[in-house]
Amino acid sequence: MSAELPAATGFLATVRQDAASPPRPAFASLGYRAELREKVAGRQLAATLIHAGAPDGARAQGRDTAVLIAGELYNRAELRSLLSGDVPDTDAALVLALLGVYGVHTFRLLNGRFAAFIVKGERVLLATDHAGSVPLYVAAVPGRITAATEAKVLRTALDGTAIAAARPVPWLPGVHQVPAGTVLELAVDAGTGTAHRTWAPPLFRRILPEGEAVEAVRAALERAVRARAGTGTPLVVISGGIDSSSVAALAAGTRRTRIDTVSMGTEEHNEFPQARLVADHLGSAHREITVSTSDLLRRLPHAVWAAESTDPDIIEYLLPLTALYLGLGGTGRRILTGYGADIPLGGMHRENQLPELDSAVAVDMATFDGLNEMAPALSAIGGHWSTHPFWDRAVLDTLTCLEAGLKRRYGQDKWVLRAAMGDILPHQTLIRPKLGVHEGSGTTSAFSRLLTGAGLPDGQVHQAKRLVVQELFRQVVVDGLHPDEVDCVAVVQRVADRQTQPVP
Ligand code: AMP
Ligand code: MG
Repeated sequence: MSAELPAATGFLATVRQDAASPPRPAFASLGYRAELREKVAGRQLAATLIHAGAPDGARAQGRDTAVLIAGELYNRAELRSLLSGDVPDTDAALVLALLGVYGVHTFRLLNGRFAAFIVKGERVLLATDHAGSVPLYVAAVPGRITAATEAKVLRTALDGTAIAAARPVPWLPGVHQVPAGTVLELAVDAGTGTAHRTWAPPLFRRILPEGEAVEAVRAALERAVRARAGTGTPLVVISGGIDSSSVAALAAGTRRTRIDTVSMGTEEHNEFPQARLVADHLGSAHREITVSTSDLLRRLPHAVWAAESTDPDIIEYLLPLTALYLGLGGTGRRILTGYGADIPLGGMHRENQLPELDSAVAVDMATFDGLNEMAPALSAIGGHWSTHPFWDRAVLDTLTCLEAGLKRRYGQDKWVLRAAMGDILPHQTLIRPKLGVHEGSGTTSAFSRLLTGAGLPDGQVHQAKRLVVQELFRQVVVDGLHPDEVDCVAVVQRVADRQTQPVP
């Protein structure tokens, strides 16, 4: 394992008055496990941390406060500037020190990719980053609160009571997901509490001269990439599209030595030439990974296991990345992606209409929560840590707030981003149109063929994909099966047979 990863990448934590033992953790995320037993403010705290060899930075304890954090912060210098005296050198210690000054509002200060569990006197604080990019789940009963970064870990803690401020997880009664940009504050004795919003997608739009907009985007993204690049050699997963190529180019700019890049494809579809063009331009050490479509489809249960989503479009989109992360091999890498630029920039919006473009941005920014597209488990099932500079809080705010005419300009989508990268990417890359990874790898068509091959007419394929994903979710999340034990072909056939059976 590697010091390049955050101190912890996941956790299970229980705080309780009674002596009940915490559920046995069954994470999809790979890593070492550190067990923790502590007394905090007269209550028992028991936790398991998933880590890469040095978990101490993920926990900190004060007089009546304990902090556990999975993930990492990206504005450490800013945060440290708020504190006088001894400057804490780990993320958990930093959060602990800030809690002493700012209380629950600490979480409005953090720019990071994290989930946190905090025992503070008789209360527990459950915090997500602005994007909820590290999913956080909770089951609470009076006297006992259990939380984990994967829902499946809580499947045996099913006696939880309803929490109005959090989202119930399908088929796991009593398990709730903490919303993005939220601190859920629960009283241990009552098992109930309130939610504090710490971030919301901005709805106002800034009017800037072209040059200023371009500079703002470049500066924010550069900072976000630098904060994520680590001290070793970062690995950027690239398609050769404008988003991932921007991240790769900026990452290369932070290094004297070469960065690593990798691109995946199937025997049917790939974007290898486009990615190779960028790799050659940057002089990166580049790899191409070809996954056969049958191996790709075999990873469907793994994608559901990692993302814990029941949405077929999300799973289809995440499947090629799951296969890529599983195929990387080696020890834990720090992986940067170009994920998510299209959401604040309206990159999927293909016409020239500004009102529709801004509506699409507003709707997408209001509905991303709970999709788990950024779940770290997706790469952690291969032992790696992924991070997404376009969803850095400052980058996301900058991009979202730009008036639509800076996003769509001169007949180009994502104009401001393309203009911001003009000096560091090849021209062909700068003008390349959007291609989703599920399209570029042939995942969508392969998954569709799996269903038509099982006898389904085209018109029923999308609904059948939904049913397949739901059934896989039941098996690998609710029932706790390992994805290698799932017979995906049988699941598909069962769904197809049920769908095509004549109604009696
Ligand atoms: P997309 O939906 O194409 O924007 O994909 C999201 C992110 O996944 C990209 O920004 C890349 O970092 C990564 N990605 C997409 N396609 C590939 C690919 N073929 N190989 C490696 N990484 C990819
Ligand atoms: Mg793409």
